[in-house]
Amino acid sequence: MPGLSDQEIDLIAQRIVADLSGRGGAASGKSEKPSSIPSAVGEMGIFGTIDEAVKAASVAFCQYDQMGLQKRNDVIASIRKSMREHGDALARMAWEETGLGRYEDKVKKNKLVTEKTPGTEDLPSRSITGDDGLTLMELAPYGVIGAITPTTNPTSTIINNTIAMLAAGNSVVFNVHPNAKRVSCYNVAIINKAIVAAGGPRNLICCITNPTVESAQGLMKHPGVRLVVVTGGGGVVKAAMESGKRAICAGPGNPPSVVDETADIDKAARDIVAGASFDNNVICTDEKECLVVSSVADKLVKAMTYNGAYLITKEQLPAVEKVLFTKQYGPRQEADIDRSLIGKNASVILQKAGIRCDDSIRLGICEVDHDHPLLWTEQMMPIFPVTRVRDADEGIDFALQLEHPRRHTFSMHSETLSNLSRMARECNASIFVKNGPNYAGLGFGGEGFTSFTIASPTGEGLTGPHSFSRWRRCTLVGAFRIV
Ligand code: NAD
Repeated sequence: MPGLSDQEIDLIAQRIVADLSGRGGAASGKSEKPSSIPSAVGEMGIFGTIDEAVKAASVAFCQYDQMGLQKRNDVIASIRKSMREHGDALARMAWEETGLGRYEDKVKKNKLVTEKTPGTEDLPSRSITGDDGLTLMELAPYGVIGAITPTTNPTSTIINNTIAMLAAGNSVVFNVHPNAKRVSCYNVAIINKAIVAAGGPRNLICCITNPTVESAQGLMKHPGVRLVVVTGGGGVVKAAMESGKRAICAGPGNPPSVVDETADIDKAARDIVAGASFDNNVICTDEKECLVVSSVADKLVKAMTYNGAYLITKEQLPAVEKVLFTKQYGPRQEADIDRSLIGKNASVILQKAGIRCDDSIRLGICEVDHDHPLLWTEQMMPIFPVTRVRDADEGIDFALQLEHPRRHTFSMHSETLSNLSRMARECNASIFVKNGPNYAGLGFGGEGFTSFTIASPTGEGLTGPHSFSRWRRCTLVGAFRIV
């Protein structure tokens, strides 16, 4: 199918949208393989059932496996080129379909994963030589990966996972989030186009038109899937761990940010507002609460209001709580939040609580005591609690509790090495950011590669091609040492 024009791609996307919006059998649930799905869609990696998708990805894997490293590099270069061209449109589609986050931030996320997801350079081989000869160790693909993606970062996770998994030589079947299936199918289709344009096999990445929690579980258990990779909340992590397969699990976080009295307070305020409001707080690594040493708390809060935050007063807080929570379980417990508010602009949420403000407000902040459920809940919306602590040590101790511990992401603003050092060690997290917004830990304004699948429960941390590979060893006895 090389040479599909952009018009043809658009036509396919329109047909996918038509199918998904109920004119085809898939969306209406009448048939697993609706006849209305055009055959071309199957060639673009989009199928009616998990079984069809896994079979196609298995064929593609066998072809890809014969093609060598240079072809992998060509395929990845072509995907990056295509995502540079389509990243803005994908961001808009994701924003429109999910209703989460901010379009302009989704553009940044797509750019980040397009440029900073590692390729085959992340697969170093090892050699061991000695009197007994030479042993070579190389990172090999698993085969077909079953990947489950979230609604909060639908396209950035697909782009990131695809580049990393294909760099490692695998093929992949995505079970995307049902609330993001149109943009995700479109993303899969145009990536397939880029792969084929580079001479790669068809259907190297696949998805299904009507993903559900049940189809995700079917994918995890499918005998053709060698590795399960999930990015989402606690439920999907649990399901993956029970799948009986090797699983890489990227689960929820609740990142605390500690500010001590030695921090550059103006910069800390700027960084925290920028980080906590990034894509309206839906990213798992975004700051979810702030613990500030009392002596600088007033200064920090004031500085946050100079940088795009609205301070919710004590009098206004009950109305905001009423809007945010559907159920509370008492002090120091996670509360149930109104999920329709996840990822909405701060102004929308505040206006619901009767607070007049305009859309220039990036973040609503409120001062709360240590028992307040907003501190303990992964809210994923730009309403951000700030609480006072006696000193940095109390801040660190309390931050560890607030994180549950999930060992996901923490940050600290301080000029005191011993405080930074203690927190870095004791938070024991996949990401710890010092003196910057948390997104710096994703390689956005900070050094290092990026990942949108940060696997804390299973320990891989920021995943990359090396995570989606298995070590193989080859030993030659008694020869080939050159010294
Ligand atoms: P979600 O858990 O609702 O959905 C994620 C995916 O898992 C979806 O495709 C969904 O269909 C599937 N799923 C959900 N429950 C399942 C089950 N029991 N069995 C099989 N599949 C199931 O999460 P979401 O709302 O899309 O994303 C937000 C959550 O994901 C937050 O908790 C966030 O912290 C987390 N997240 C983590 C990372 C990370 O890298 N650690 C990245 C993004 C999001």
